[in-house]
Amino acid sequence: MNEYDSNRIYDLAKSINYEKTSEPTKADCYVLNTCHIREKATDKVYHDIGRIKKNFKDKKKPIVVVTGCVAQAEGEILLEKEKYIDAVIGPQSFHKFNQIIQSIEKESLQKNSTDFDVREKFDTLNYYKNSDNSVSSLLTIQEGCDKFCKFCVVPYTRGAEFSRPINELIRESKDLADSGAREITLLGQNVNAYSYNDKKLSNLIFEISKLKNIKRIRYTTSHPKDFTEDLINVHDNKMKKLMPLIHLPIQSGSDKILKAMNRKHTVEDYLEIIHKLKAVNPMIRFSSDFIIGYPGETDTDFDETLKLLSKIEFINCFSFIFSPRPGTPAAKLTEIDNKVAKKRLVLFQSAAEKIKLKYRRSLFNRTSLVLFENKVKNKDEYFGRDEYSNSVIVKTKENLKGKIKEVKITNGNQNTLFGEITQRFNKRNFAA
Ligand code: SAM
Ligand code: SF4
Repeated sequence: MNEYDSNRIYDLAKSINYEKTSEPTKADCYVLNTCHIREKATDKVYHDIGRIKKNFKDKKKPIVVVTGCVAQAEGEILLEKEKYIDAVIGPQSFHKFNQIIQSIEKESLQKNSTDFDVREKFDTLNYYKNSDNSVSSLLTIQEGCDKFCKFCVVPYTRGAEFSRPINELIRESKDLADSGAREITLLGQNVNAYSYNDKKLSNLIFEISKLKNIKRIRYTTSHPKDFTEDLINVHDNKMKKLMPLIHLPIQSGSDKILKAMNRKHTVEDYLEIIHKLKAVNPMIRFSSDFIIGYPGETDTDFDETLKLLSKIEFINCFSFIFSPRPGTPAAKLTEIDNKVAKKRLVLFQSAAEKIKLKYRRSLFNRTSLVLFENKVKNKDEYFGRDEYSNSVIVKTKENLKGKIKEVKITNGNQNTLFGEITQRFNKRNFAA
């Protein structure tokens, strides 16, 4: 979502004559767009500003703006501690970016803009064309969260759940398609909580799938509680454009920990969703997020998490040690021994890697449909992604940008698969 926001901040800045530079040491303005989900984000801001200061020691000071969730959570403290910062702008008020920059240009006073103006933000952004011209584009459809998991800062930094009007999203999707997008990833902190009048995520997916040039649709991140029947059903084989990888965070395999986290679902609820999705489309695979070492997690709880991991065989897992976030209820809880938490994380990640490796090996000598995004720099190679978002590289002199080709996977490592375009299938002129 920060990537989407950064693109949109750039769309605004362009209209007051700023452009991206490939020479950061000559920049007139720095925008540090930040994430506050785990610790160290604030340290990173101070560290980055230290670097900017060093680069500009003997030059005119650039304008320095901190945007995003660190700005929201620590606005005044940042301005107080670091006078080099000209403005802090929260994620729901970045539509005021140009006005803030222009007033800094005039009077160079520190500015704090951390209101929750999400409706006004998107109303303003609608006047600025989304200029993302990537083959695979991002589109924020929903923001904020009303779930209040005890460990999470999102409800405090992004505010309450808000869904953008469906007509606005279709228009933005058309713009993206006209600029070259062939895949759209719909974004939201709880993307499947999308609700606008009587329209839900399933309706939006259906509407976007009608756009001829959009060949692939993905969405992230879903919450198990909002996985309704209509969304499950939209994954059936008729909706070819909807990709068969679902990112569905569970956080823990222990009901006791899920309850302590206020996740509002059990392991059984989660398994039922997986079961229903597999029933409508057996090709669907899953990825997930896990928090390891949550306060109160015992060896037994952790074993349950490991069991769930092997049961589902997630093809990708994002796992983190619990990080107490200031202002959240879990920050007041007694943390478990850090050495134990670290040991569990290593165990978890090595089990997850084994599953991932087995899965990736199972792809060798098989064919995948790859949407190609860009040429690999200085090489006769093209980069793309298969339907499960795996990175794939093929050797070719051809310009494959925006095309979908059938590729035979020949080998690969943890991060990338390598393959050859198969002539058989592609001669039949696959609609790309
Ligand atoms: N809304 C999604 C859901 O409910 O699963 C998750 C969105 S959250 C922004 C992304 C991920 O960050 C979470 O799934 C969780 O694993 C991780 N995360 C959030 N707060 C955390 C914390 N305090 N410590 C460690 N990981 C955290
Ligand atoms: Fe954070 Fe997701 Fe829980 Fe909302 S549902 S509080 S975004 S982890």
